Amino acid sequence: MKNTYLNKSYRDLSQKYPHEREFLQAVHLFFNEIEPVIDLHPEYQDQAVLERLVEPERAISFRVPWVNDQGKVKVNTGYRVQFSSVLGPYKGGIRFDPSVNLSILKFLGFEQTFKNALTGLPMGGGKGGADFDPRGKSDQEIMRFCQSFMTELYRHIGPDLDVPAGDIGVAGREIGYLYGQYKRLQGPKPGVLTGKPVILGGNESRPPATGYGLIYFLKQMLAETGQDLAGKTVMISGAGNVASHACRKAQELGAHVVTLSDIDYAIYDPKGIDLELVIQLRDDPQANLADYSKRHPQAQVRAQSVWDLAIEADIALPCATQNEMNHKQVKRLLNKGLGFIAEGANMPLTAEACRVVKEAEIPYAPGKASNAGGVAVSGLEMCQNAARLPMKPDQVDQRLQEIMTHIFSQCKEASLRYGGGLNYAFGADIASFEKVVEGLLQLGVV
Ligand code: GLU
Repeated sequence: MKNTYLNKSYRDLSQKYPHEREFLQAVHLFFNEIEPVIDLHPEYQDQAVLERLVEPERAISFRVPWVNDQGKVKVNTGYRVQFSSVLGPYKGGIRFDPSVNLSILKFLGFEQTFKNALTGLPMGGGKGGADFDPRGKSDQEIMRFCQSFMTELYRHIGPDLDVPAGDIGVAGREIGYLYGQYKRLQGPKPGVLTGKPVILGGNESRPPATGYGLIYFLKQMLAETGQDLAGKTVMISGAGNVASHACRKAQELGAHVVTLSDIDYAIYDPKGIDLELVIQLRDDPQANLADYSKRHPQAQVRAQSVWDLAIEADIALPCATQNEMNHKQVKRLLNKGLGFIAEGANMPLTAEACRVVKEAEIPYAPGKASNAGGVAVSGLEMCQNAARLPMKPDQVDQRLQEIMTHIFSQCKEASLRYGGGLNYAFGADIASFEKVVEGLLQLGVV
């Protein structure tokens, strides 16, 4: 970064929050990309645009006490980071994972603000969660934890104020329990959460939306180079909601998906992933992914990162978590002919890995564009709740395809306008920054 205002803002931020590694990483990557816009607008400095965009409007932290099945009292820390309400109510998921801390939620809330701007729906950005590990917990323990979490969170959220949804460790079951407790405290307002079970006001097309949206974005990237998914070898990391639906849609479109993974194991199946089996193993508390090779002896299941497998693949879809892929792993895959990367997770590439990808100049879709399908369909769920009129799932999927196409064109257009060629990461940051800043400046000093 050469721009003095960008440099100063970043330096000040890193001195103020030196331990917030992930947050600083996300801001640094973003600042690098928006440099040409800042160069063109020296007046932003007097308006303290950057300082306002990197400081969340509000960050709440609270105690979550709960009782486990043995009758012991446990305590976790819960958070909600209300990052920006420039474009609408705070919107973004809740993550239950032992890694959760303020740095991670600030990075996620920051990313969410710009991701939501790209969807074109009126949503601000936020993120929340707790350092609670749902693995190995009974259904009753999950319910008690969700109830305790909501007993504090309810006073900070609302259908027109802040609308949480799922993320890692939080899906339909947890959203159901969270809403159940919210309803006892505040009455029935289904629009307060998205990703609800269908019977409670959700939409069948929400769970697959992030994974399907990722593949819709990828399709556009491929089409730009005159290609399609049929016959392409695809590596996917993760086995959760995003990874499994990305795998399903890619397979439907004729791709050859050869990997999936979880925190303990990576599966490489040269014959193509048996998705139903992976889902069965994932959802069975008695089983683990290592059991995959019992049914498919040709497959290798290793206790290592999927990105350490030396495979020739055309496309990599990191769909697990932040910083899951480092520069060495990317280099190895590039040497083996990797041609495309599209992120299903938020910031899955380390800063170094991003640099390597940029130098290689392969088509690369950043999460804030390519995984925006989930939150976009959350926006549609908010509409159907506000209108009290359910939308048909295929109608929602149709809208999702249109939104992903629109996000793709915004990334492409902004990148070309600033002379970046077909650099989708550059375009995504510029297009979303322009929108948020336009709104921010019209609100006055807020
Ligand atoms: N957690 C998802 C994301 O990272 C979805 C959030 C939502 O639907 O509000 O975008």
